[in-house]
Amino acid sequence: MRSKKHYLENKEAARKIILENLDFFAKLYGVKYRKVAIRNQKSKWGSCSKARNLNFNYKVALLPKDQRDYIIVHELCHLIEFNHSNKFWAEVEKTIPGYKAIRKKVKSVSLR
Ligand SMILES: [Zn+2]
Repeated sequence: MRSKKHYLENKEAARKIILENLDFFAKLYGVKYRKVAIRNQKSKWGSCSKARNLNFNYKVALLPKDQRDYIIVHELCHLIEFNHSNKFWAEVEKTIPGYKAIRKKVKSVSLR
């Protein structure tokens, strides 16, 4: 059951997993973020604000590693390019060369 209870029980474990991956990629890209919030959103895997704060759905931690990495890299790359331009996707491709296929898989996973 993916309920509020499931979220509260898994939130801290998810934060640990997400932060580990995030720090790995942040070093690779040489970018710095401010705060990370772990949320239980019904429609988003992650987001990035202009204030350089990142949000991740706790369910990111439950995904296979390639999908998890893709979502984390996607949000990190918004710290470099705050849009979905070709330049942005080129940044993503640097560490996730197969991102197109992975992106499709992520999109097919329901958050509800
Ligand atoms: Zn994006």
